[in-house]
Formats: sequence, structure tokens, C-alpha cells
Amino acid sequence: MSLFTRIIFAAVGSLLKPVKTTIKGKWGEGKVAHILSRLPEDEYKVINDVIIQTNGYTSQIDHIVVSIYGIFVVETKNYSGWITGFENSKQWTQNIYGEKQSFYNPIKQNKSHILALKNEIYIIKDNFIPIIAFSDDCSLKVETETPVIYLSQILGEIKRHTEVKFDKTQLDGIVERIKALNIDSPEMRQQHADEIRYNKQRTEEKLRQGICPRCGAYLVLRQGRFGKFYGCSNYPRCHYTHSE
Ligand SMILES: [Zn+2]
Repeated sequence: MSLFTRIIFAAVGSLLKPVKTTIKGKWGEGKVAHILSRLPEDEYKVINDVIIQTNGYTSQIDHIVVSIYGIFVVETKNYSGWITGFENSKQWTQNIYGEKQSFYNPIKQNKSHILALKNEIYIIKDNFIPIIAFSDDCSLKVETETPVIYLSQILGEIKRHTEVKFDKTQLDGIVERIKALNIDSPEMRQQHADEIRYNKQRTEEKLRQGICPRCGAYLVLRQGRFGKFYGCSNYPRCHYTHSE
């Protein structure tokens, strides 16, 4: 590759970067897994990207750390901008220079994952520890009881828990049970991806029809501090907003 081509690539790359960070999503595979792999292996067993199915629903869990101190269920969000939300609100908001996007409260998401796991591996709820970690690029403005932290704090947060809950033999048993539950066949993974795509299509369809995807009321164009946006006509009962 010539120097010129490399400069072009670098320039295009830096142009794309701000756009890319607004896309809500996952880290490149392995980033968080790599950080978690620094935990001492004899006390912490890390299982990444677990898909389990309970009562017909599939749950995708980013990372599970099974340790003698409890089972950490980790939800990670690679978002930038300002993040606002409360423990029990249904939606949280990502705000990038006034561009608002709502997303499902990750605490609720995490709770449903813990519930699914608890029912399948027969471990009491108290032995699960939720952790929600956001990118250090964002600014967390959330008010929660459940720990919502930056990715750089994740090892410290895990190591904060020092009360022993399981012995090492139990640890191996739990890991085996989770691994047995994990859907890792390509066919089942495809089905899970299809389900997500179907839900996304349904949301987009409703937006095209001017209908609130959350409650079914009409959306109305409103003028906010940072520009125009679509809000639910059912406000304040429904807080759904959408900006193009
Ligand atoms: Zn609504």
C-alpha cells in the first residue's frame, strides 16, 4: 500500500469514526472479553456471548463471570454522548449534541437475563450480581441503585465483591450448566438474529405509519430545545421520542 493510499484510508477512517460511534451497539468482539480475561482464572470463569432460551424467548448475554463470589452478569454498551435514565424507567436516552435516541433500559435487560439464568441453573437470585458497563467515551448521567459503570471500572467493580458464595467444585458445576444451556449451533443463532431483525422491522414499519412503537398512539412533531423531534401524543403517559 502506498503512503498516499494509506493517508486516504486514514482520512476516510477519521471521517467515518464519529458516525460509527453514534450507532448503538456492541464492541468489536473480544474487547471486553480481553479485559475480563485478566481476572485470576482459578477464582473467575468467564463465559462470553451466551444465548439461552427460556419459555420460548431467547436472551443474549454479553458476558457471564462465574466466581466464588457470585455470578456476575455483565451487560456492555458501546455508546457515546450523554446517557440518562433511571433504575425503573423503561427507556434510557442517548443524547449526542441534541440528537436523542432512546434504548431499552439495560438494567431491565440485565434483570431479565438474570431471571432466565436463575430459572435454568437453579441458583438463587441473591447469588447473581448485575453489572452494566458503558464505554468510557460516554458521559453517564444516570440515577440508579444497580451499578452502572464505565468499562475501565469493570475489574474493580467485580473485585469489590469479596464475600464467598460458592466453593471451587460448585464453580465448575455452574460453568458446565451454563455452557450446556448456551445455544451455539449456527442454526439457532440465525433464528435469534432473525427474531431481532423482525422486531426492528416492526418498529420501523410503525414509525413509517407515524405510530408510536411503544404504545400505538400517534406520533406528533414537536419542537425541542435541540430541534424538531417526533414525540408520542400520549405524553406524559408515554415518553417515546424519535428523531430522524
Ligand atoms: Zn407512545
